[in-house]
Amino acid sequence: MQSITSLSRFVARSTRAVTALALSAGLALGATGTAHAQGVPIVRDAEIEALVRDYARPILKAAGLANSNINIVLVNDPAFNAFVAGRRMFINTGALMTAETPNEIIGVIAHEAGHIAGGHQERLRDQLARAQTMAIVAALLGAGAMVAGAATDTSGLGAAGAGVVAGGSEMARRSLLGYQRSEEVTADRSAITYLNATGQSAQGMLKTFQRFQNALSLSGARVDPYQVSHPMPRERIANLETLARESPYFDKKDSEALQQRHDMMRVKIAAYTQGQAATSRLLRGTDGLASRYGDAQSTYLFGDLRSALSKTDALIKSQPKNAYFHELRGDILMKSNKPAAAAEAYTTAVKLDTAKSGILPIQLGQTYLAMGTPDALKKAVVEIRKGLDRDRENASGYRYLAQAYGMLGDVADADLATADGHYYSGAYQDAKIFAMRAQQKLKPGSPGWVRAQDIINYKAPSKKKK
Ligand SMILES: [Zn+2]
Repeated sequence: MQSITSLSRFVARSTRAVTALALSAGLALGATGTAHAQGVPIVRDAEIEALVRDYARPILKAAGLANSNINIVLVNDPAFNAFVAGRRMFINTGALMTAETPNEIIGVIAHEAGHIAGGHQERLRDQLARAQTMAIVAALLGAGAMVAGAATDTSGLGAAGAGVVAGGSEMARRSLLGYQRSEEVTADRSAITYLNATGQSAQGMLKTFQRFQNALSLSGARVDPYQVSHPMPRERIANLETLARESPYFDKKDSEALQQRHDMMRVKIAAYTQGQAATSRLLRGTDGLASRYGDAQSTYLFGDLRSALSKTDALIKSQPKNAYFHELRGDILMKSNKPAAAAEAYTTAVKLDTAKSGILPIQLGQTYLAMGTPDALKKAVVEIRKGLDRDRENASGYRYLAQAYGMLGDVADADLATADGHYYSGAYQDAKIFAMRAQQKLKPGSPGWVRAQDIINYKAPSKKKK
């Protein structure tokens, strides 16, 4: 995972206290720019993003949404939630952890695609599409607090949550209190169509919704926001079951390879967000490779680095072309203060990564940054820029880029990169300050100067509008 050095430390039981969370990727950065860590718990991970994108791609295509170029945003929240806004699909780690099979998540994605294709909540989606990713997540966590509080009691947390909402995210509140019953019926029917078109079962969707109907919460959180925004009366679920069973694919299972990737994702999330004990508990229910992967991750995070390295090398022996095993090798070597060896591992990971994640080149760039020689710093700039070309909104990537430029003595480009980092974190005032600083040193009309001007001219979407 990128830049999240010790995720587990920050995952408080009360995820609702947005300001108490300090998961921003900028934290790992040190000197150059943690002043505005937004406290937004976004998890960036090449492996999980690629997997969820693989889940979503055929469904979105079947829904006629193939050209929307959907970006996956993982939110570190134990509650169950998933939705799409603009070209971003937000999925809570809690939903991924809860789903025992890929089909369960694919079913939820199909249902969401049904809402989008049906034009439900369009105006709201437009508003969300214009906002920056981190601003949306912050707003949603606030809104989640409000909803959770309102559903369980009228004091304390609920009141605090309502304050957060009033302060900035009316739109998110309405999103959570979202869909009409008629829209649910439409989305269910569309979901079945997409699943049939892609030869997949609706069993996972049905199972998820049935569990929501029977239990208060799937994830153990107070109330899952997904449950609140998607009303699930008994007759709706009964109708869905009838439709699902009519499909010739009802009994079709996910492929073994996909199930294995799913299991590896779950053990990784567990290791990062729930600590060692929860990971070992989960490992007991997983197959050989996923279990060994979880063990290696857990050893890397909580145990002995030398042992983590030998476990990872054994994994690489089993699957030499798995980019993420090489990535883990790089993570371990970086933590062991061996940036040159880490660079080799990440270079292999970048080469093997068919999903072409921007995260891996940025991690490679960080190893060059750690080496610190002028030659290495130039390589850092090249790799980080390559990562940012693939992943334009990667706020922490800009901060590493700023650091590399700064160490090379290129103050103008360092200021511009810092401006971009603030911009993509949603800290527009700071972004403008650094953009103005950069402009003073950049040639008027040059691409950098023009980018700085764009940031200076940017108008944040109004929060007060209804
Ligand atoms: Zn729904």
